[in-house]
This record gives sequence, C-alpha cells and structure tokens, in this order.
Amino acid sequence: MKSYEELLLENRAWVKQHLYFDPNFFKRHAEGQEPRFLWIGCSDSRVPAEHLTGSGYGELFVHRNIANQAHLDDNNVLSVLAYAVDVLKVHHIIVCGHEHCGGVIAAQTDTATGIVKEWLKPIYEIKGKQASQLATMSQVEQQNTLVRWNIEAQVDNLKQCPIIQKAWERGQGLAIHGWLYELETGLLKSLCYHDHI
Ligand SMILES: [Zn+2]
Repeated sequence: MKSYEELLLENRAWVKQHLYFDPNFFKRHAEGQEPRFLWIGCSDSRVPAEHLTGSGYGELFVHRNIANQAHLDDNNVLSVLAYAVDVLKVHHIIVCGHEHCGGVIAAQTDTATGIVKEWLKPIYEIKGKQASQLATMSQVEQQNTLVRWNIEAQVDNLKQCPIIQKAWERGQGLAIHGWLYELETGLLKSLCYHDHI
C-alpha cells in the first residue's frame, strides 16, 4: 500500500518527467482546455478513464460518481453537462459503466444504506420494473444485466436532458455513447450510440 507521502513524491517525478521532454508542457496547458470528450463514469478506482482509453492531459472532461449516474435533478451532473456542452462544446459524451460495479451490486442485493441508497434509487427502480425477467437469471447474470441496463438508462436520461436537446436543436455536433468496461479483460464495449445531427 502506498503512503500519501509517496503520492506527493510521485507527483514530483511526474512533473520532472514531463518537463524533461517538454519544458513548456504545464505553461501551455495552463492557457486553456479543448477536450472533445465528456466522460461520465463510476468513481471505482479500477476504472480510471484516462488510463484505459490511453488519453492524455486535456483530452477528457471527466465526471465520476457512484455507478455512473446521470440524474437530471442533480446539480453536480447538470453543471458538468452544461459546461461541457455549452462552453467546451465537446463532440462526444461517453457514459461508461463497468462489470463488478459495487453500486449496482448494492442495489441488486439491497445492501445500500442512507445517502448511497438514495443515490442508487434509479437502479432500484430498474430492478423493480424488471423483477420477473431478472428472477430467471443467476446472480452474476443479474449483476451484468443491471450494469448494462443502468448504462442504457443513463444514456436515455441524457437524451431527454434540455441541455443536450438544445444543443441538437441548434445543430451542434454531439453524440452520446453507452460503453461497458469489462473489468476482467480490460476491454471497452460499445452498447449504444445516439447522434441527432
Ligand atoms: Zn462502479
């Protein structure tokens, strides 16, 4: 296990390495950002957006929360969306869920409590609506299916979001993707894609 001091030391090494190859690296990036992608992913430490997409500094605008939710009544999600779409004018929004998601498992097994349970309410609702279909599956199948349905539900939320609807109405190029990260293989899979232009 790393100590927090090691994180600070790693940071110094990281800075040194970048400056060695490009003395203006940080100064240049301090001038602004133009990411083409908004990533809405899970907070899970095993799903680091930049690492698994080979993305560098300034390439992804990232929002992560438990179980990659895009609640349309959440000011955190909405402000990220508004800034990404209206100001940064990202071209793609990627909702990325993952297998073995603790949030989805907590909803499936009804082990979430308090504020986390409240946050996961949309997954509880999916589970409730599809109870008869889920009942025919094994525990693992249920988990994997809920992970997928949750990704698709968040993509559907985004499609209905006024920020995105308005961007499409004014002809802004903006696609929404639903991706699944397979934790056991490291592979990303595209589940759905929407583009109104
Ligand atoms: Zn997760």
